[in-house]
Amino acid sequence: MTTATSHSNFDTHILALPLYEDHHRELAQRLTTWCDEHRETLADSGQPEAAGLHILRALGDAGWLAFLDGGPDDCRALCLAREALAYTGDLADYAFSIQALAATPIRLFGTDDQRRRYLPGLAAGTLCGAFAVSEKTAGSDVAAIRLEARETDGGWVLNGGKAWIANAGIADVYTVIARTGPGPGTFGLTAFLVPAGTPGLRVEPVPMIAPRAFGHVVFDDCALPREALLGRRGGGFPIAMEVLDRFRMTVGAAALGFARRAADAALARARERPMLGGKLFDLPTVRTAFADMEVKLDAAALLVARSAWETDQGGPRYARHSSVAKLYATEAAQQIVDSAVQIFGAAGLVHDSLMERLYRQIRSLRIYEGPSEIQQAIIAAAIDPDRTHRGAS
Ligand SMILES: Cc1cc2nc3c(=O)[nH]c(=O)nc-3n(C[C@H](O)[C@H](O)[C@H](O)COP(=O)(O)OP(=O)(O)OC[C@H]3O[C@@H](n4cnc5c(N)ncnc54)[C@H](O)[C@@H]3O)c2cc1C
Repeated sequence: MTTATSHSNFDTHILALPLYEDHHRELAQRLTTWCDEHRETLADSGQPEAAGLHILRALGDAGWLAFLDGGPDDCRALCLAREALAYTGDLADYAFSIQALAATPIRLFGTDDQRRRYLPGLAAGTLCGAFAVSEKTAGSDVAAIRLEARETDGGWVLNGGKAWIANAGIADVYTVIARTGPGPGTFGLTAFLVPAGTPGLRVEPVPMIAPRAFGHVVFDDCALPREALLGRRGGGFPIAMEVLDRFRMTVGAAALGFARRAADAALARARERPMLGGKLFDLPTVRTAFADMEVKLDAAALLVARSAWETDQGGPRYARHSSVAKLYATEAAQQIVDSAVQIFGAAGLVHDSLMERLYRQIRSLRIYEGPSEIQQAIIAAAIDPDRTHRGAS
């Protein structure tokens, strides 16, 4: 249901709002054109590890990752890229977003040496990154992290594991949050850069609902030099939060891309499918379903745009807005994809069809980078205490 006159992966009426600048509108057009021209490369097909690396290289060659090495901070651009790539294919969005997620802590907190060592390769797509925070018993609750980093004469030794890690198995470098002190909770967490070839690091692949490079990472007496420390000792929690606060809104942008693709496909289907002497789209209940999708797409796009705009302005409420955008856009996208499958009927359930893939691919967005319930907790905690007083008087 892209409401543009020319073909676009975006709603150009929302792009026309003053929340965006001309260079964002040009970027959106270039992204749409590039995605169209590279549809085969970006397709969700083939062996996901190899396909992921192939897509990463294509993204690097085209310059879409160049911002990771010295580019400006531009959350609106990041969101637009995820929206366009998710519209095109799950693996394309995955390759782009995990690379950006992995490079961001190095960009923001790395030493000059660390930046020189990793960022050019990450920006070229010749190095692949991963960001490892979660553990089997520490997902929503980051304070429960147990992976131990013990200081030695020469550096550090890691013992324990990380769980549910995107790009596990294909990453060349992992940004890892480990425990260097007793706590309590989020105190005593520290970030490290761990090259994949470090002795003692091993990956256990985990097959997921939507195939991609993914798994648990085990650290068994994994020795790191002093230079592996990212940021300051004890600074791991702020690093993880800074990165996640920025990226949550981009999950909302990806959700929008998946949802818009589903809605566009369902609209094309409903307009051509003969039904009761007319077309499926003529039925009042079907039109109502499309009206609901339109409202949800608009609301999600506006919330993502507000959040990215506020982040780009350095606004104080960006973390709250980021959670609002993620929560709403991912929940709405789940409903839109489900409605689109319903409009396709049995044809929407055929294995490996577009609808069936979208139905599987959308599910994880309500869980990763903080499940919806965690976003609700963040939003509730940010409610201005004065509001109750004003309302009560
Ligand atoms: C596709 C995918 C990619 C991922 N990639 C990465 C990655 O690259 N790096 C990484 O570190 N992690 C990654 N993760 C892990 C992800 O961040 C965690 O799955 C997520 O934080 C939730 O943790 P959990 O799965 O342990 O669920 P749990 O923490 O066990 O929570 C399970 C459920 O309990 C409920 N719940 C939990 N806490 C609360 C609360 N406070 N209030 C109310 N309800 C609550 C929610 O319904 C939640 O869904 C990925 C996950 C997926 C699915």
